[in-house]
Amino acid sequence: MIKEDVRRLLNELPEGVELLAAAKERNAYEISEAIKGGIKIIGENYLNDALGVINEVTQKAEWHFIGHLQRNKVKKVIDIFDMIDSVDSLRLAKEIEKWCEKRNKVIPILIEVNSGEENQKAGVSPKDVMQLIKDISSLNYVKIMGLMTMGPRFGDPEESRPYFRKTREIFEQIKDLYLPNVEMKYLSMGMTNSYEVAMQEGANLIRIGTKIFGQREGSQT
Ligand SMILES: *Cc1c(COP(=O)(O)O)cnc(C)c1O
Repeated sequence: MIKEDVRRLLNELPEGVELLAAAKERNAYEISEAIKGGIKIIGENYLNDALGVINEVTQKAEWHFIGHLQRNKVKKVIDIFDMIDSVDSLRLAKEIEKWCEKRNKVIPILIEVNSGEENQKAGVSPKDVMQLIKDISSLNYVKIMGLMTMGPRFGDPEESRPYFRKTREIFEQIKDLYLPNVEMKYLSMGMTNSYEVAMQEGANLIRIGTKIFGQREGSQT
C-alpha cells in the first residue's frame, strides 16, 4: 500500500514540488516500498535510525538528515547523508565544514528556521537567519541550498500559514541578494497535515511521513 500511496501523492503534486519521505521509525522494507513507488528523497531524524536501514535499502535514493544534529554526530552524518536539512547555527556549520574538508567533499545544507519562535524548537529565529546565512556562506565545504521550517504543529493547518508565509518572505529576500556560495533553491515546508497550505505558500520540498507510511506507533499526530 505504501507504493500506491506514494504514487497517488506524487500524482497530486504540482510541477516543481519535490517529495521527501520522512522515514523515522520505518524499516528498510517500508522505505524500499516508498522508493519503488517513486520517492527519490528519504529523510531521517536520527543517525542511528539511518545506520540501521541504509545498507538494507538497495534502491537508489538521496538521503537527507532532517532532525536535530548534535555536533558529535557530524562526522558520521556527512559520510552517509547527501544533504543536511536542519542546520541552525554557525557552530554546527563549522563542525560540518571541518569534517567535509577532511573528506574533500562539499555538502549541501538547508537552514532551519524556527518560524514559530517557539523556545523549545530547533531552528534559528527569523530575525537572525540573514546573518547566519552570510556567516555560513563564507565556508568552503558547506553549500546553502535553501530554508526548512517545521512551523508550529497545530491541529489546524491554517494556523501554520503565517509561519510558512514568513519563511517564504525570508527565502525571497535572501534569494534576491544573490550571495556568493548561496543558492536559494529549496523551500522545505509542510508535513502530512499541512503540506497543502505549505505549497500554497511556496514550498517546493514537502516532508511527508504519516500519509505515506501510516500512523507511527504511539504517535499523537
Ligand atoms: C516526522 C517529520 C515529518 C513528517 O511528519 P508527518 O506528520 O508524519 O508527515 C516532517 N519533517 C520532520 C522534520 C519530521 O520529523
